[in-house]
Amino acid sequence: PAALRDELPTFRYVRVNLLAATVDGVVGQFEKEGYRLAAADAADRSQLHAVLAAGSRTFMRDPDLHDVLAFPPGTDLHAHPLFVDGSIVLQDKASCMPAHVVQPPPGSTALDSCAAPGNKTSHMASLMANRGRIFAFDKDRARLNTLVRLTDQAHSKIITARCASFLDIDPLDPQYAAVEYALLDPSCSGSGIVNRMDALVDAYIAGIGRGASGKGGDEDKSGDDTKAHEVRLQRLAEFQTSIVLHAMRFPGVKRISYSTCSVHVEENEAVVARVLRSQGEFSLAPADQVIPTWPRRGLETAGLTEAQAASLVRALPEDGTNGFFVAGFVRTAPADPSRA
Ligand code: SAM
Repeated sequence: PAALRDELPTFRYVRVNLLAATVDGVVGQFEKEGYRLAAADAADRSQLHAVLAAGSRTFMRDPDLHDVLAFPPGTDLHAHPLFVDGSIVLQDKASCMPAHVVQPPPGSTALDSCAAPGNKTSHMASLMANRGRIFAFDKDRARLNTLVRLTDQAHSKIITARCASFLDIDPLDPQYAAVEYALLDPSCSGSGIVNRMDALVDAYIAGIGRGASGKGGDEDKSGDDTKAHEVRLQRLAEFQTSIVLHAMRFPGVKRISYSTCSVHVEENEAVVARVLRSQGEFSLAPADQVIPTWPRRGLETAGLTEAQAASLVRALPEDGTNGFFVAGFVRTAPADPSRA
């Protein structure tokens, strides 16, 4: 498995679990073990690539996400004591973006609509300092069981896991009245995943099967020809749109992140455009609230304006991550009870 991983191009990203460690503490621990910390400069992306390509025991603080560290491709930390004790989570950088876009503060109430295996749920718990509450939904019982186990390992104490289709959850149920933040990461085509082999190797090492790494476990697979491909994308886009519109019906929700690990416009910008057309209570969060230092932004397509596209985040394999897409929505008008 290590040899297979060595051939893969993406960096090894490490998320520091703030429930069990500090970023400085983790950095110091790696330095003590002989890793060299290279300076990170958000303005010079080539530096990140050059440094990480150069040395196997070099690492950097990620220039965009304060709780993420970047190591060279092939770095294997599965047996590292910081991974074993839950101080670090091995999670692709792109998949660490949605929790930073939705930004639930400590003490708040959040939901995760399609949560298993729970990497983004435990990331929200980390940013919330285990204060407040997170409702985590997934319709797949086995995957939800994995979420319970992985979020426990990550010391998350504020997660209420429920096996249900998010679309069947009543937004007006009083138990959800306090929900203000929603992370939406629904099933997608998975077309952005370059380190699929890495995901399989991770799952194999973790001994917990397909989907354990949180990337590549849930991509919808059916049909190869062009027509089938288009039909499949349309079906996925309809489902994704319905998840976002449903989250917008929770009257207290004021900030939403929508993400996919797809590179297709149909599942990304087109879903955003459709959501903006279908309701009048939410707008796109401005670019300075959506990973502002990250240079690759959304595409000006599907009727989106230049400013709207600039507020979206895209990631591609050449950025050293999986292909990924994130949009932030903010409430700009009070909830209309007739929409619920
Ligand atoms: N957010 C997860 C993470 O970072 O670990 C990965 C989520 S994965 C891309 C999508 C998940 O959506 C799958 O676990 C799938 O079972 C779930 N799902 C699909 N349809 C759903 C629905 N209607 N309601 C709730 N969950 C759903």
